[in-house]
Amino acid sequence: MPIYEYQSVESKHSCVHCRTGFDHFHKSPGTLEVCPECGAAVKKLVSAPNVGGSESGADDRAKSAGFHKLKKVSTGEYEKLY
Ligand SMILES: [Zn+2]
Repeated sequence: MPIYEYQSVESKHSCVHCRTGFDHFHKSPGTLEVCPECGAAVKKLVSAPNVGGSESGADDRAKSAGFHKLKKVSTGEYEKLY
């Protein structure tokens, strides 16, 4: 069940619900074209979910946690990347 984020495309015809964007839980396939609250035309926003995370994100977390990333250069030898 996908959850998409939508936002009104025309600020004149928008309500509190869609002006700043809202998440819509899809019970059926397809995309929402109008705000369910006020009927204004909405567009689907491409949002990057904060789950999972990329490898670089893991690096950033390790970095901020004070860890250093070591790259194995050869046997028993490590290069400090940062
Ligand atoms: Zn609305």
